[in-house]
Amino acid sequence: MTRDPLDVLHETFGFSAFRGVQERVVTRVLARQNTLAIMPTGAGKSLCYQLPAVALDGCCVVISPLIALMHDQLRAAQALGIRAASLTSVDADWQETQDRFRAGELDLLYVAPERASSEGFRSLLARAPIALFAIDEAHCVSEWGHDFRPDYRLLRPLLDSFPDCPRLALTATADAHTREDILKQLGIAPDGMVIAGFDRPNIRYAVHPRDGLTRQIGDLVAANPGPGIVYAQTRAGTEKLAEQLGRDGRRQVRAYHAGMPPEERRANQDAFIASEDMVMVATVAFGMGIDKPDVRFVVHAGLPKSIEGYYQESGRAGRDGEPAEAHLFWGAEDFIRARMRIGEIEAERQAGERARIAALGALVETGGCRRAVLLRHFGESPPETCGNCDNCLSPPESVDATQTARKLLSAVYRTGQSFGLGHVEAVLRGQSTDKVQQRGHDRLSVFGIVDGEEALLLKPVARALQVRDALATNEHGGLMLGPEARAILRDEVQLPLVLPPKRARRGRRGGDAVNPVSNPLFEALRACRRDLALEAGVPPYVIFHDSTLREMTERMPQSMEALSRISGIGTRKLEAYGEAFLRVLREHG
Ligand code: ADP
Ligand code: ZN
Repeated sequence: MTRDPLDVLHETFGFSAFRGVQERVVTRVLARQNTLAIMPTGAGKSLCYQLPAVALDGCCVVISPLIALMHDQLRAAQALGIRAASLTSVDADWQETQDRFRAGELDLLYVAPERASSEGFRSLLARAPIALFAIDEAHCVSEWGHDFRPDYRLLRPLLDSFPDCPRLALTATADAHTREDILKQLGIAPDGMVIAGFDRPNIRYAVHPRDGLTRQIGDLVAANPGPGIVYAQTRAGTEKLAEQLGRDGRRQVRAYHAGMPPEERRANQDAFIASEDMVMVATVAFGMGIDKPDVRFVVHAGLPKSIEGYYQESGRAGRDGEPAEAHLFWGAEDFIRARMRIGEIEAERQAGERARIAALGALVETGGCRRAVLLRHFGESPPETCGNCDNCLSPPESVDATQTARKLLSAVYRTGQSFGLGHVEAVLRGQSTDKVQQRGHDRLSVFGIVDGEEALLLKPVARALQVRDALATNEHGGLMLGPEARAILRDEVQLPLVLPPKRARRGRRGGDAVNPVSNPLFEALRACRRDLALEAGVPPYVIFHDSTLREMTERMPQSMEALSRISGIGTRKLEAYGEAFLRVLREHG
């Protein structure tokens, strides 16, 4: 007998409504239709199989690639009162789990792909009814995907040997090749694909030229009290930046990179997962396979590798759907370094790499909506403005800098393509420095052709020209013309220039909509959550998410009945934690 999905949504999960495509996916699964759900991070994939697991008779088998991910999910499911277990190499309760499975006492069983495809597992499955196969991180089945796992290829025979049991594949990866491959490999018909948009509306995007990076990031960290990740470009860079950011002692800051001793790395990761306010300075490897929902900001200290990488890394912010921020800091040298690396790779990959860099250039240089640039890159047709990125919130001034760009390029050319920007600027501004006189550059036609306001544009114009590959740098840092210079010198293309904001806006930042950190009731509820989490040996977010505590702060429920109407409080959590939180609420009532 299948239970009403809305009842399960309210009672087990404590949510009032489905989000986005969840309803479509759940409806298909309950109708036993094979489905591929493509949903961005934070869209609520796990509910799509956890809810049917509760609603349907029989056990839902979940195939997942990483033990850490499985255990994370397991903890969350158990906290909701879902009867869940896993069979992995680190579980000691195999016998008990198998007994429970055979007795029909499990709603959810998590296994790794290599176990799932084994003969022993298949004969176990034959002993009790199976409601559903859920294949999480389904892109692992595809060689096109970014982390191909050969074991995923062995799943098909298992799935086929239970022809009446529906399969649900889930992934956040969505390039067309990978999608098709997943459908084919897992035997799902093309009309079984449900795609949610790529947009992460709760993430506020902002892009800034680097200009005193440590101070810039320090300001951000000071304005954002929640947990955050700062991506640095090198291992040494993570440790240095962590040290600098932690120096004033106001925030807990740790570092993470592949070169650290494994125990230290592990300890730092665990501390971050359990923390409500830690800053982690890491290389981009950090965050893969961890599922912390309450990361409030992600900062890139330099240019990411690609738009895809940027979307994925910044997407580690705000999985809980609460307001979160993504900040990208860049400099012209990032583009120059990236182009230099192109020279070192095989010829057939170079064009692709160049396109990747150009796409990043468009993101950092645009005066328009950042979200629109990202979404268009993924083939969507977003509105022109989103209202939740830096450029939409305070539209930047922009000027036509084509003439200034031509003057700058001419000066670079006429001075012999071997000087840095300082000298070229001196020539253009007509400054008779020693170097200018020694080289006779005061006799050039470009000497003194830029003054006043226009002179202020030289630095941002040089940066924009470097992004576009109209200006390049020789091995000594001297400027020279790049392949895109010709068209500008000939006046065939324009150079619109977005002016950087006059002074970095301090104070008012996106963070103000998030947690009421100085609210004594909210703080008391957080303390209560911390105690319960410690007692249960789980991260605080497993007890309740911030949004649930915030709703408590706003509505101040004074009875179990009122508490049960808060989002995120299902029957099981009400029973387990209701009294403890009511006590705090009554003290403040
Ligand atoms: P994904 O795996 O797609 O990144 P999760 O399954 O971790 O997303 O869910 C993201 C967050 O959204 C979780 O905190 C979850 O509790 C919350 N969530 C999921 N579905 C709903 C819903 N219908 N209403 C409110 N919150 C939801
Ligand atoms: Zn926008």
